[in-house]
Amino acid sequence: MSDACLFCRIASGELKVNLLAETANAVAFRDIQPQAPVHFLVIPRQHVDSLAEAGDSALLGEMLRLAADVARSEGIEPRGYRTVINTGEHGGQSVFHLHVHVLGGRALSWPPG
Ligand code: 5GP
Ligand code: ZN
Repeated sequence: MSDACLFCRIASGELKVNLLAETANAVAFRDIQPQAPVHFLVIPRQHVDSLAEAGDSALLGEMLRLAADVARSEGIEPRGYRTVINTGEHGGQSVFHLHVHVLGGRALSWPPG
């Protein structure tokens, strides 16, 4: 883990954000630049660079379960929502601490750009 990593600092509480929910190993909070009426991120507490380096399948499951639970509490479950994990350069990843985006509250187009 790097002290300089933005999401490590959020996960540890060093950088204060309003958490939407948390589990033993993951936290959910709103994206600072929302791309939909509801847009939040789920990250592991422990630093993992990206999905490519994520070897803990239980942790990945915990993150997805938390994503779905928060989507429900945010009210976007009935009409649906999108979960996205950008990985690496071509995936458009800009923060290299694994995160699941959850977007909802409007119809989302497909395919993505
Ligand atoms: P990526 O492009 O790596 O898939 O997504 C990174 C996301 O993190 C972006 O949607 C960006 O808006 C969000 N983000 C970057 N810095 C911060 C921050 O300081 N706080 C929060 N809440 N979100 C951030
Ligand atoms: Zn980190």
